[in-house]
Amino acid sequence: MAELEALLDTRIRSIPDWPVPGVVFRDITPLLADPAGIPAVVEGIATALTAAGVHGADLVAGVEARGFILGAPLAVGLGVGFVPVRKEGKLPGDVHAESYDLEYGQATLEVQVGAVASGHRVVLVDDVLATGGTAAAAVNLLRAAGAEVLALVCLLELPALGGRERLDVPVIALRAV
Ligand code: AMP
Repeated sequence: MAELEALLDTRIRSIPDWPVPGVVFRDITPLLADPAGIPAVVEGIATALTAAGVHGADLVAGVEARGFILGAPLAVGLGVGFVPVRKEGKLPGDVHAESYDLEYGQATLEVQVGAVASGHRVVLVDDVLATGGTAAAAVNLLRAAGAEVLALVCLLELPALGGRERLDVPVIALRAV
């Protein structure tokens, strides 16, 4: 775990005042470019889920876009399928939709009707937990689609923004900054 923490500390860049003044953007692209990055994250998340007593997931859900990059290999690692939680207008067919406020701006997320079998146990993944608006909307959408959401997993939590307090699912963060 100390190796993973060192990797997260050295391979996630902090970009001040991006995309708007006052926001410190946490850029995971160096982590993704490191061949050790994604495997270490997948192993670290699997270990953290077990340590938190989260077992028996049927699906991983990832939030567009960086939650896709992390969620798909996590799904492979856990031996389960993957469900995309997408931005507005990307998914064909009937969708569940929810709008929410971001640390910067506003957005709408969607999950396909029928993407989750009723009662399926889902682990939700994203790169950063900031205010929690994104994750709360994703949890609501997955529940609307029939899921039981076991936990939110993120690489970085920004505790000062209080995201964890907005969520009624366990939050597993590999690092808090
Ligand atoms: P929030 O809804 O405020 O918790 O914001 C979380 C979502 O926005 C995640 O999908 C992140 O990818 C992105 N995000 C918010 N703040 C940051 C940040 N400071 N650095 C990188 N991504 C962020």
